Amino acid sequence: MPVVPQLSSDRTYGGVTVLFGAENGRYPSGNSLVIQGTEETLLVDPSLAVHERGGAPAAIDRVLVSHAHEDHLAALHLYADVPVFAHEADVDGVRSLDGLLDIYGLDPLAEADFRVELVETFNIGGHGDVRSFVDGTRFDLGGGRSVSVVHLPGHTGGHSGFLVEPDGFFFIADVDLTGFGPYYGDAASSLEGFLRSLDRCRDIDARWYGTFHHKGLVEGREPFLAQLAEFGDVLRRREDALLAFLHEPRRLEEIVAHRFVYRPHVDSVFVDTVERRTAAQHLALLVPAGRVAEVEPGRYRAVA
Ligand SMILES: [Zn+2]
Repeated sequence: MPVVPQLSSDRTYGGVTVLFGAENGRYPSGNSLVIQGTEETLLVDPSLAVHERGGAPAAIDRVLVSHAHEDHLAALHLYADVPVFAHEADVDGVRSLDGLLDIYGLDPLAEADFRVELVETFNIGGHGDVRSFVDGTRFDLGGGRSVSVVHLPGHTGGHSGFLVEPDGFFFIADVDLTGFGPYYGDAASSLEGFLRSLDRCRDIDARWYGTFHHKGLVEGREPFLAQLAEFGDVLRRREDALLAFLHEPRRLEEIVAHRFVYRPHVDSVFVDTVERRTAAQHLALLVPAGRVAEVEPGRYRAVA
C-alpha cells in the first residue's frame, strides 16, 4: 500500500489528521481522515484528493467509509488489500459498481452516463473485502483511542458519522453544513431520517466537528450548533417555497420543473430524479400534517 509524504495542507487535531481536499473538499473532492492509535491506523473516506496524492501519509490497517457515494470511494482502489468497513445498509454500494448504482436509483439513460463517470472520474471498481458495521460499533486503535459509529441515515440509508475519543473529534461526513443544504434525493434517502440525524448531531458534544465537504472543520460546540441550525434551515426554506408554489393546485411534474433543490443553470443527469424524490418526500410529510391537500389524484394545493 502506498505511503506518501505529509502535505502542508494536512492538519492534526488530537489523533486525527485531516487530509484537506482542494477548496476545503469541495465536490468532487473531499476531506479524508487518518486516525492513529498505538496499534492501528484508520483511513476514513478515501477521496479524490487521496487518489491524486497517491495514498495517505501513513500505513493503513482498515478503511472506514461513511457511506456509499462516489466521492467517498475515489481512492479505494489504492487499498485493495486492506479491509473496508461500511454500514450494513450501504455495504453493497462499496462492494461493486452495480451495487453503488442501485444506491442512486437513476433511470436507465442517466445510469448509463453515470456508470462511465463513476469509473473514469472516481475510479470505482468495487472492493473484495467489505465488512459491515452498525450504530455503536467501536474500533479500538490502541493507546486508549477509539472510533465509534454514529448512524446518521437520511443522505443514504447507511450514512454514518464517526466519533473519535478521547480527542472529541466528530466526523459528520455529508451532514456537510454547506449552503446547498441536506441532500436526500437517492433511492434509499429519507427526509425524515435526515431530520432525526440532525437532532442526533445536535446531541453529541465534541471539540471538533469535521465534514467531508466545504466547511471541513468547525471548532467548538457553539459555532457548530449555529452552523447546523443554518444547514437545517435550508429544509424549512425548501418547504416554504414549495408551499408558496402550491397556492394553486400543481402536479408533481410541475413541481419537478419548477426546481426546489437545484438552481436553473444546473445541468445534470440527476436533476429530475432528485427534484422528484425531494418533492415527493416533502409532500409525504405535508399531506398527513394537513398543510397540503391532494385536491384530486396527483394534484396538490397548500391548505390556507
Ligand atoms: Zn454523499
